[in-house]
Amino acid sequence: MTECEICGAEIKGKVQYIAIGVSKLKVCKACARHGTVVVEDKKAKAKIGGKQVLIAEAKRKLYEQMDHEIEEGMEGVEGYGRMLKEAREKAGLKQAELAKRINEKQSLLRKIENEEIIPTDEVRRKIERVLKPFI
Ligand SMILES: [Zn+2]
Repeated sequence: MTECEICGAEIKGKVQYIAIGVSKLKVCKACARHGTVVVEDKKAKAKIGGKQVLIAEAKRKLYEQMDHEIEEGMEGVEGYGRMLKEAREKAGLKQAELAKRINEKQSLLRKIENEEIIPTDEVRRKIERVLKPFI
């Protein structure tokens, strides 16, 4: 048995939900006119459920975006190796010669060009100082 929260009478038939200010009341049909009729509990819950789905969806999209950014970062590294090789060849320098100019090991340059490692900022700066006109 459900009682009307305004008049206290037993609600026969469909329970009405109304909002008066911030309160939500279960009322009989006769009292429903005192406030704004709001959606039934069942629907309200479904709405919340829908919201959770939306949050989950938003999170998934965020993660996808993050993955994408990581992939883009990897592409940047790949691009650097290729770019270095091209610039070095344009400069007419062998790996060993460039390595000597920047005071690094040839094996390091080879690894950078093969995109096995990411050069440190210091190494990048040294490379760019030598190859700047060719990059
Ligand atoms: Zn009532």
